[in-house]
Order: sequence, then C-alpha cells, then structure tokens
Amino acid sequence: MPRNRTRTHVSSKRAHERTSPRSTSNSFRCVHCRLDVSLDAPGTSHRNHCPNCLWSRHLDNTPGDRAADCGASMSPIAIHVRPNGEWSIVHRCAACDTLDVNRIAGDDNPLSLMRLAVAPLAQPPFPLDWFGRL
Ligand SMILES: [Zn+2]
Ligand SMILES: [Zn+2]
Repeated sequence: MPRNRTRTHVSSKRAHERTSPRSTSNSFRCVHCRLDVSLDAPGTSHRNHCPNCLWSRHLDNTPGDRAADCGASMSPIAIHVRPNGEWSIVHRCAACDTLDVNRIAGDDNPLSLMRLAVAPLAQPPFPLDWFGRL
C-alpha cells in the first residue's frame, strides 16, 4: 500500500495504531466491544462508529477531519431523526462531553439502534398508569 505523507493521514494512522496494534489502516478496533471494524461502511463515505455496539471515538471536529486532540471514547446516547427520515446517532464524549451527530451506516446492528431509540420509553419519568387520568 502506497504511503500517504499528508499530516492528516499520518496522525489518523497513529491514532488507530495506539489502540489497535494488529489492525491495518483500513480498519479499527472498537473502544467498547473490541470488535475489529472495517472502515468501509455501506451508505457513508467514512465510518465513525462501531456497527455492533454503536460506540465511537472523539477523533473529529467536523466529520472525517481527524482534527480532534481528545481521542476518548464516545457513547451513543440518542437517536436523532432528520426531516428526510434518515436516522443519526448522537454521541457524547466520555472525557470532554462534546456531542456529535453521526449518520447511521447500512450495516449498523438494528437491535442496537432500536434499543437506543426506545430507551426513554422503557424508562418513563412518570408511572405509565397516569395515562388513564389524562
Ligand atoms: Zn463496538
Ligand atoms: Zn472528547
């Protein structure tokens, strides 16, 4: 594979090597479930989260730029639905509390996505039998 000597590519490659010494530059190891994930994601130009557990890492300031110095893990905290019906995942950084919104990929685990989407309904802030009094 030809070496690309641009700054962005080199720092991105180092970031991957720090946590996944066995991976190639075309994959990364998930910070949460340790799955080895190919960077090729159906439906998006670059993969930014694990298709199994949906966790991400704080590597970008804007999607794909790899300019963030943080590098901490980002937990999926909510599903956002865009006006066109497309789903996105809201990620929050465990270290600096930055919020990011990332498009889902075609091979994201549907069970993980649905579990995230219904989480507020599974833990309502009031008893559900209050509906009988409305
Ligand atoms: Zn994972
Ligand atoms: Zn961060």
